[in-house]
Parts: sequence; structure tokens; C-alpha cells
Amino acid sequence: MKTELDLNRRPAAASRSLAGLSLTALEDEIKSLDVPAKPARMRAKQLRRWLHHFGSTEFSDMTDISKELRALLSQTYHLNRPEISEHKVSVDGTQKWLIRFQPGVEGESVFIPAVSKTGALCVSSQVGCTLNCKFCHTGTQKLVRNLTAQEIVSQVLIARDALDEWPATVHGRALSNIVFMGMGEPLYNLDNVAEAIDTMSDGEGMSIGRRRITVSTAGVADKIPELGARTGAMLAISLHAVRDDLRNEIVPINKKYDLQNLFEAIRAYPDLSNARRVTFEYVMLKGVNDSAAEARDLVKLLKGVPAKINLIPFNPWPDSPYECSDWGTIEKFADIVKRAGYPSPIRTPRGRDIFAACGQLRSESIRKSAAERRREALGAPSLKGKTSRQSDKPFSL
Ligand code: SF4
Repeated sequence: MKTELDLNRRPAAASRSLAGLSLTALEDEIKSLDVPAKPARMRAKQLRRWLHHFGSTEFSDMTDISKELRALLSQTYHLNRPEISEHKVSVDGTQKWLIRFQPGVEGESVFIPAVSKTGALCVSSQVGCTLNCKFCHTGTQKLVRNLTAQEIVSQVLIARDALDEWPATVHGRALSNIVFMGMGEPLYNLDNVAEAIDTMSDGEGMSIGRRRITVSTAGVADKIPELGARTGAMLAISLHAVRDDLRNEIVPINKKYDLQNLFEAIRAYPDLSNARRVTFEYVMLKGVNDSAAEARDLVKLLKGVPAKINLIPFNPWPDSPYECSDWGTIEKFADIVKRAGYPSPIRTPRGRDIFAACGQLRSESIRKSAAERRREALGAPSLKGKTSRQSDKPFSL
């Protein structure tokens, strides 16, 4: 009969992090050490608690796990987070991390501290984006790759480390909410996003309730009901225009899923109610989408949908084609929507000085061509003369 551990096993030097892995992935890793299935499940649960509830970075903390298993784990794995390339703190307390997930693949996450009660971490689901929303700086960066579930969860670990918020469940934590509004379109990476949400919301681990997790989409209509069924997360829609012709221009995925398609999908989102409203993000662009007539059309469009509308003063970035609406225009717009019964807060710009505000995120990672990667592997000079912060995806010669 197999014992729990093969102590003669001599694995290679620790090479892979366990931090941020789902319970199932942790169990698989432990089984790969020849621990039989039943104890492997129990050990995975213990590990999950140390990693995601206590934020442990040392196997030696894990006093309820046998010394032998701890020794084996530490020979095989480490508990490091991905490297932080840059960490900036805004004058308003907003914090931004540029995280190196692998050489040349860097993405950003932003912690927005509480204004009244709760603070939120804005996480990225992809590096770059394919959708090219015209007001968004990330949209000017081509997709490099999807982030794994572990990489998405690691953004929470990094923020909790910086905020010194371990263990996770102590009351009154600054980081209480997660919003998938960083780089990328989450519904184009739904498997990893759903797995990450399972890990974040696990009551024995990070304990961030599913209702405190919001996923924002530019409008991938055919995945919206699936998102609700698989994750139970709150839904946000990056709307920004109330007519198809304008939305085709500002949010080009509208050409594939027009407003009618989009609203059919929103109405099919599970469990919508006044306590579980859809958040609509509406960036205020001067002379483009900010008229009183558009506010009234927005109210018509929202009919029957429990909704809250976040009005976002446009945050400029270098060479952006738009200007922010005047304050009076934004207030008038908000007033029309509010009088129709929809909460319509005007979002205070946060972190503008460190380019951490909505729509401002962008890293320098780029996806390289196969030819470029082959040249670099052979030690030849780059065709484009670029050497840093570039995609370094595995490839074969
Ligand atoms: S708003 Fe979101 S979906 Fe649109 S380009 Fe930016 S990151 Fe991509």
C-alpha cells in the first residue's frame, strides 16, 4: 500500500509557485508528489488556508502539515508572487502595480481605497486587449495573452501583501471588493476568470463574497448569461453610447453584438433585482455622447433592467482623441437619469497622476512574431530593436 509520502523522492529544485492556485490545482500538485487521493485532498485544503487566508509565504508557517511533506513541498515549489516591476502610489491613496507574469508579459492592477465604506482592487484578465474601445488606453495595446487563473488571483495576493491585510477575514478590510475592470475583456478569458472567482470567493481562503466581485464586459453578449451561471458575480457593462451608430465607433464589438442583442443578454442574467443591479459604465466624452437627449435615450434603453449608472469623467491619456465633458453637462446628464429612478453617481477620478484611472491602463508588453522569437532564441539581433517588456511566450524551433 502507498504511504502518504515517498520520502525517497528527490524532486528538482523548487520551480513553481503554489500561491494563487485553486483548490483543485493544489490537490493535483500534491497528488503529483505521490500522495494518495484522500490525504491529498485534506492537504490541499490545509495549504489553501495557509496560502489564501493567512497569506503565508513560507512552508515553515504550516505547522499542521507534517515536516516531511513541508520539506518535500519546499523542494518542489515556492510560494512567491509574480515579480512587481513597478509600484506607484497616487496622492489620493490609489495604488498601481505593474506585475511581471513572465519575462515580457506585464499587466496592471489598481487598488482604489474606500471613499465611504469599501475599497476595491481592479484586476486585469488579459495583457493587452483585442477590442480597441476608442476611449481606452489599453485598447491601443494588442493582446499579448490571457492571464491564467493563478495570475489573476496573484494580483489579490500582491495587493493584500502591500496593504498588510492578512489574515483575510478580519472585519473592516480595506480590500473588500474586486472589479474585473483592468486590462482585457474578461469574457474572452471566461474559464480562467471563473476559476479565479472560485478561488477569491472561497470561504476558507480569501473569502471575498461573490456579490463583492464585479465582472465588466464591453458586451460579449453570448457569454453574459454563462458568466452569471458559472460565477454568481455581479455584472457591469461598459456601455458608453445609446445608439448603435455611435457605439459601433466607440465600442467596436457593438458591430458584432448590437444594443438589442446586448440588452437581451443582460435581461437573461440570473437573479437580477434591485439588490443585484447591473452597473453600466458610461464615460463622459465632450460633445460625443453627453447630451440631454442621450440621457433620456439611456433611460428608455434601461427600461425593466435593475440598474445603476456610473458616470465616468473621461480620463485623458497621451494622444487620446477625446476630451472630458464639462462638469455642468455631466451633472445635467446625471440628473435626468436619477430623476428616472436610477442611481447615477459621478465617479470621482482616482489615481490620474499615476495613470491608474479608468481607461488609462497600458503596459509595454507586445506579442512578438514567431520569426522574431526564433531570431532572439538564436541570439540574433531583434528585427525591431526592442529588447524589453516583450512577450516571451514559449515556442518551438
Ligand atoms: S475598455 Fe476594456 S474591452 Fe475595451 S479596449 Fe479597454 S480593456 Fe479592452
